[in-house]
Amino acid sequence: MYDLAAAFCRCSHPYGIYMPIFDELMGEESLRLLETPLTRDAACRLLICDDDYLSVLLAAALEAKQRFKPDMVTYSRKVFLPLTNLCRDYCGYCTFRRDPGQPGAHTMTPDEVLSAARAGEKLGCTEALFSLGDKPEIIFPEMRETLRSLGYKSTLQYLEAMCELVLKETSLLPHPNPGLLSSEWIARLAAVSPSMGIMLESTNDSLLQPGGAHHNAPDKLPAKRLRMIEEAGKQNVPFTTGLLIGIGESLGDRVDTLLAIRDMHRRYGHIQEVIVQNFRAKPDIPMRYSPEPSQGDMMRTVAVARLLMPDMNIQAPPNLSAPYYEDLLDAGINDWGGVSPLTPDFINPEKPWPHLDQLKARTEAKGYELRQRLPVYPEFLPAVTGRPGLLKQKVIAAADASGYVQRAA
Ligand code: SF4
Repeated sequence: MYDLAAAFCRCSHPYGIYMPIFDELMGEESLRLLETPLTRDAACRLLICDDDYLSVLLAAALEAKQRFKPDMVTYSRKVFLPLTNLCRDYCGYCTFRRDPGQPGAHTMTPDEVLSAARAGEKLGCTEALFSLGDKPEIIFPEMRETLRSLGYKSTLQYLEAMCELVLKETSLLPHPNPGLLSSEWIARLAAVSPSMGIMLESTNDSLLQPGGAHHNAPDKLPAKRLRMIEEAGKQNVPFTTGLLIGIGESLGDRVDTLLAIRDMHRRYGHIQEVIVQNFRAKPDIPMRYSPEPSQGDMMRTVAVARLLMPDMNIQAPPNLSAPYYEDLLDAGINDWGGVSPLTPDFINPEKPWPHLDQLKARTEAKGYELRQRLPVYPEFLPAVTGRPGLLKQKVIAAADASGYVQRAA
């Protein structure tokens, strides 16, 4: 086996990082990197490799992407439905959440959900992305009252009804991101949505300590999130997860998070995509003075994710790396995630999604076809179409023979 650690050299670089002596060795080095299973230690080192070695890393990651899904990059055309922005957690980087009575606090009505979904349908959207705070009714009597007036006992019960409404009344397929779910709720939501997700974010539980990004965010305990991801695996639910970089974690934590996701997928085969998301500072959040990961950090993290998980879908949101988002293609992503022609990114409202024409042009300029996918990836469709009922019918109606969106859209 090629000893990558040994290649981090003998030179006088301050980080002890390998620097190729001859440019002509770079191709050979990237091939070695590609063909050799990365150790945790080597992955950590690659996350801080110098700019000279970065080109080797990127070449290896790009080749891995091309072997996995050649010449194509996908995205999901979506409507963003922030069902409620009330949340019982207080993450240090969150600009989405509100307390009841705060300006902007809102829970969508069924009419608002349906009207946004129908507007998206007219624009060729195929995904209804439900994003919401985690179980706000546990700490807010106001949310309990809102739910009672709508006819529901819990936010999850309301979410289930809204997924069903969208599924019945439109051609959109729901993809909920509701926070932590029990095994019972995974099963209930899987009956009305082909896929769902939760960001693992980080395996570092010290982020819940005072001063950490997840202090006062009990639902961000890594063990709880891993348990949910595992339960979704046991139920064979196509699942989206990922890591968030720049929230106080170490390089080792980043690698451990990727390895935890990879291990889950090896055991259950249900992780349909891995999101690599970068923290962005905003003036109104507790972490407003925290440094953001650089574009170089993002590229290294994406490339290492690709090398650790060569046969998995890897996604990075373009709006969080604008204006240089196509650099992420060089690092080995094969998907841009959900992009909306209609609704803003309510999680990062100051970072608009690129116009779809621009995304297409910049993707094609790199030599790839931009292809619209459903919220569930083609290779995970059998997990959904194996179940009887309306969901199966809707998914089959939305997909072409290869499992992508019919090209007419
Ligand atoms: S990131 Fe999610 S869980 Fe954390 S405060 Fe925001 S909405 Fe709540």
